[in-house]
Amino acid sequence: MIAIKNNWTKQEILDIYNKPLMELLYEAATIHREYHDPNTVQVSTLLSIKTGGCPEDCGYCPQAARYHTDIEGNGLMSVRQVKAQALRAKASGSSRVCMGAAWRNVKDGPEFDQVLEMVRTINKLDMEVCCTLGMVTENQAKRLAEAGLYAYNHNLDTSEEYYKEVISTRGYEDRLETIQNVRKTNVTVCSGGIIGMGESIEDRAGMLVALSTLSPQPESVPINALVAVEGTPMEEEKPVEIWEMIRMVATTRIVMPQTQVRLSAGRTEMSREGQAMCFFAGANSIFAGDKLLTTPNPDVNQDMDMFRKLGLKAQKAFVKAPQPKTVEAEDSELVSIGEKPRWTRPGHKIERNELAKEKSKLASRGRV
Ligand code: SF4
Repeated sequence: MIAIKNNWTKQEILDIYNKPLMELLYEAATIHREYHDPNTVQVSTLLSIKTGGCPEDCGYCPQAARYHTDIEGNGLMSVRQVKAQALRAKASGSSRVCMGAAWRNVKDGPEFDQVLEMVRTINKLDMEVCCTLGMVTENQAKRLAEAGLYAYNHNLDTSEEYYKEVISTRGYEDRLETIQNVRKTNVTVCSGGIIGMGESIEDRAGMLVALSTLSPQPESVPINALVAVEGTPMEEEKPVEIWEMIRMVATTRIVMPQTQVRLSAGRTEMSREGQAMCFFAGANSIFAGDKLLTTPNPDVNQDMDMFRKLGLKAQKAFVKAPQPKTVEAEDSELVSIGEKPRWTRPGHKIERNELAKEKSKLASRGRV
């Protein structure tokens, strides 16, 4: 096994990304076999526990309140609803439930307490629990860990340079700080990004530099292809070509051999042959279920049929890291400390975000 390298440069990563495809695939597939069972794929179910109405301005996201999209918002789900969905996910072959809330950051209080109870409930179903709730402080990360959280997702989205063209309501350093806060616990880190937002190949390499130079590297790296939703600033972006996705997956596999590379949003646009090439290139994790938070995803039955045809099997829970213990709320020594962290708010203007916001205002006045 080659040693994990934590000092990748952008040029080294670009040289890998731009290799002749057959060579790139061969190298990635070889490394994949050294570190993973190539016939096993981890299956997660993504659950939107609080949808829409988000105060952030992420240019790709239909859940941002400032853009006019067809998303139907809803408040925080109940623990009972989440448990029912988790049981359904388990029955259809998922080993992990990832709960997403459209929040800028976690706020101490009854809603966070409710999420902690969801974490306890799912961990007791012997499923891996992941949360994606925005920025978290160290104390909040510790409370999630104590409840039995297995993974925390916080995507870097893109390179530090291009981030300024996508989001103006928070800074890249906040993303990194949240990842550091999670790292102070036993919770594993899931962090990746999106391609197809108008970024350059250098930006894709830049994102992989930021992820691969984290020490340790993230245990899970989702690679998303932009789903251009009408009403968002990125509605006009062209779909990502399958070759770009294959190159990105293969490069991620080579620079982060141990991580689970997750084929995430955009799978509905990919043929089965394209997905098979991504698995060959080192992808070993997918989201199941017909919705990815708010965007479409292949039906579970279609995925299971694809697994049968390709001879793939679903990874069992807790193969890569042990099951966390759950501490009940009444036994917890960690308390809400009512933090009011000062996360960055750069607030610079991003033209296409501003235009989408204007369009949304006009739409709500019935002018478009
Ligand atoms: S990506 Fe997350 S933080 Fe950004 S607008 Fe959407 S829900 Fe909010």
